[in-house]
Amino acid sequence: MKVSKRLKEIPPYLFAEIDRKIEEKRERGVDVISFGVGDPDLPTPSQIVKVLQREAENPNNHRYPSYQGMPLFREAVSSWLRERFGLDFDPEREIIALLGTKEGLFHCPLAFMDQGDTALVPDPAYPVYGRAVHFCNASQVRFPLKEEDGFLPDLSAIPEDTWLKTEMIFLNYPNNPTTAVADLSFFDEIVEYSHRYDFIIVHDAAYSEITYDGYVSPSLLQVAGAKDTSLEFHSLSKTCNMTGWRIGFAAGGADLIESFGKIKTNIDSGVFNAVQHAAISALENSRDIAADNCRIYQRRRDLLIEALRDVGWRVTPPKATLYVWMSVPGGYDSASFARELLEEADIVVVPGSAYGEYGEGFVRFSLTLPDQRLEEGVRRIREAFS
Ligand code: PLP
Repeated sequence: MKVSKRLKEIPPYLFAEIDRKIEEKRERGVDVISFGVGDPDLPTPSQIVKVLQREAENPNNHRYPSYQGMPLFREAVSSWLRERFGLDFDPEREIIALLGTKEGLFHCPLAFMDQGDTALVPDPAYPVYGRAVHFCNASQVRFPLKEEDGFLPDLSAIPEDTWLKTEMIFLNYPNNPTTAVADLSFFDEIVEYSHRYDFIIVHDAAYSEITYDGYVSPSLLQVAGAKDTSLEFHSLSKTCNMTGWRIGFAAGGADLIESFGKIKTNIDSGVFNAVQHAAISALENSRDIAADNCRIYQRRRDLLIEALRDVGWRVTPPKATLYVWMSVPGGYDSASFARELLEEADIVVVPGSAYGEYGEGFVRFSLTLPDQRLEEGVRRIREAFS
C-alpha cells in the first residue's frame, strides 16, 4: 500500500510513551484521573435533546440538507451574532453551517491556498490549523505566542517579506492551549495588516462563550472592515456541551463565504437538519446555558488553581477556555513534568510541547472532568507534591 507523501510527512505522535504508561497503570487497576482532553463532561441540556428527538421523527428532515445550512439555522446565527456582538450579517450570503469548527477550519484553506502559498500559524496552537495548511501542500510560517506578550503575536516581529507572501493567518482567541484572550485593539491591528498586505484572517472563536470573572470576549468581526478579509468560526461544542453533535458555523464577507461554500459542496452534504433545529434552540438559549457551564468550570478552575499554588507552582487563573495553562516547575520540561504527575499522582495532563515548540515549558489541565474526579485529582496533587 502506498501512503501519500502528505500523510507520511505528518510528524509522529510525541506522547506515545505517556500513553503507554497510562495504559500500563490502567491494566494494573490504577485509577488514573485525566485532565487531558477538552470535552465537556456535562450533558447537552435536555431542551436541546428534545428538539432533536422531535425533529428526527420528521421525514422532511431525513433527506440531504442544504449545503450552506437551513435558512432557519442561518437566521438564528445572524440573530445570535447581532445580540451577542452587535453584528449585522446577512444569513443568505455571509453565514455557513459547519460539521463542527474542526471540519470548517480544516477545509477552509483548500478554497484559498495553493501549493507554494504561505500561511501564518501560531505556535503553540490547536494542531488542526497547521495540518490544514499542510494538506493543501502550502507552506507555513509559525509565529510564537510568548508569555511575556500575553500569548498574543508580536506582529511587528514578523518580517515584511513574510507579510508580503502571506495568504492566510490563523488566530484563536480565547486561545487553546494558552487560555489567553485578545481585546479589540489587537483585532484592529491584525485587520489593518490584512488590508495592507491582502491576506485572509481565519479566526477560531470556539471558546468565545466560556469566560470567567465577568470577562466578555469580543468578536474580531466587530472591527470595521473585518468582514472583507476575515472568517470567524464559532462552535456550539463547548458553549452548549455539544461536542458529539458536530455543528458549528462560520461568518464572514459574502465573497469569502461563497468560495468556502464551493469547497464544501465538494466535500460534505451539510449538517443533519434535525441537528440544525436543535442548534437553533441551543443558540436561542446559549446565554443561560453558557452561564451555567461557566459557573461550574469557574469553581473547578478555582479549586485547581488554589492547589497548584499551594504546592508552590506558578500559574495564572484563565479568563476564558476550559483549560489551565501552567508553566512547569524548574528542573522539568513539559514531557518529564507530565510523566512526574502521572507517576506520583496518577494524573494525566497534556505536555505543552504537543502544541508546538513554544508550548515547551508548560502543561495544560482541562477542567472537563466531573467535580468529584477533579476534587480527587486536586487532593492527589496536594498529597504528592506538598
Ligand atoms: N478550535 C479549538 C481551539 C479547539 O480546541 C477545538 C476542540 O477542542 C475546536 C476548534 C473544535 O471544535 P468543534 O467541536 O466545533 O469541531
